[in-house]
Amino acid sequence: MIVEINIPSPRAEPLNRGNERLSDSKSKSEHMIKTLDLTKRFKTDEIETTALSKVSMEVQKGEFVAIMGPSGCGKSTMLNVLGMLDNPTEGTYLFDGTDVSNYRESKRTRYRKGNIQFVFQSFNLIDELNVYENVELPLLYLKIENADRRKMVMEILDRMKISHRKKHFPQQLSGGQQQRVAIARAVVPNPKLILADEPTGNLDSKNGIEVMNLLSELNRQGTTIVMVTHSQRDAAFAHRIVNLFDGQIVTEEVNQFMQAL
Ligand code: ADP
Repeated sequence: MIVEINIPSPRAEPLNRGNERLSDSKSKSEHMIKTLDLTKRFKTDEIETTALSKVSMEVQKGEFVAIMGPSGCGKSTMLNVLGMLDNPTEGTYLFDGTDVSNYRESKRTRYRKGNIQFVFQSFNLIDELNVYENVELPLLYLKIENADRRKMVMEILDRMKISHRKKHFPQQLSGGQQQRVAIARAVVPNPKLILADEPTGNLDSKNGIEVMNLLSELNRQGTTIVMVTHSQRDAAFAHRIVNLFDGQIVTEEVNQFMQAL
């Protein structure tokens, strides 16, 4: 069932970089994500749990989709499969037109690195590295040359308004600042997709809205975002809300307000 809703939503503060598109424009498919009958079962000893049951869903390029639902309904499992951290038990997952459903772990890791980045509730920064080094990390994995790396890191730190903290360590920053660094780290390699898992879960409401404005602005500049959230406020930033229950999509809501922007 698709329901149309009109959620009033805060407008994003513009970043420095105008409307330049971030994502790779060499498109293979109009869908960033297309799943067909995606099923994930976990077996522990004698017990089998069906975490996802025949989930068919599409996310268009440039879309911002929120996944909601009660605890245990399969949100994390969905994000793990979409993020290629795990394979589905059955069904098909097309990422940018490529069938990745049965990729082995090493191939998934390689493919993921250049295409998908994560933003977590707990920031997941490396405490021993300073802000600059944390943001640089994905570029080191991608073997980007020194001079290019420096330029890309500094540019993103400026855009995230965090460059004055580049030598600070995560523990010396507020939660809001840490999440800005985590978003900078996610965006710096120019991924096709950002997967966000409760990105404001550890933040007060002022910092939470700031982080949501940042994600919203990145989306407007071209990055496709799928976000798991319990928060209606955060979901109001998405174009579409997919509601899961017992491993199945039960409703989809179109956010007319954000679609119109
Ligand atoms: P949510 O993120 O919505 O809280 P999850 O995706 O974490 O839900 O879990 C969905 C269902 O799958 C739950 O019943 C959970 O207990 C089960 N589950 C998730 N991960 C595992 C796992 N690694 N092993 C066994 N069961 C799991």
